[in-house]
Amino acid sequence: MAASTDFNFDNWEKRSLDRKKVYAQRLAKIDKKAALKKLPRLHEQAFEKVDCLSCARCCKNYSPRFKMPDIKRISKVLGMKETEMITTYLYMDEEGIMW
Ligand code: SF4
Repeated sequence: MAASTDFNFDNWEKRSLDRKKVYAQRLAKIDKKAALKKLPRLHEQAFEKVDCLSCARCCKNYSPRFKMPDIKRISKVLGMKETEMITTYLYMDEEGIMW
């Protein structure tokens, strides 16, 4: 018998919120190696049905982290020096992570 990884996407946002505590408990017990192995397939399944561009909650609520390759690329496109781009557009937190 094949393991089922099919997921019901109907009303997933409400069900997710309603079951947040249960999911957190399950995730705390999960076999991380097995979960990571299944992750690419689950990711593909999920994003065949979930359209990030129509949701955009991640972009509205979280800033991406900017690493040096990002900064170099963006600075080049903007025609700015890297330090100028950093001081103009980015925020560095107490851990040295640029947002
Ligand atoms: S934008 Fe974020 S919250 Fe919205 S569907 Fe994509 S991953 Fe999920």
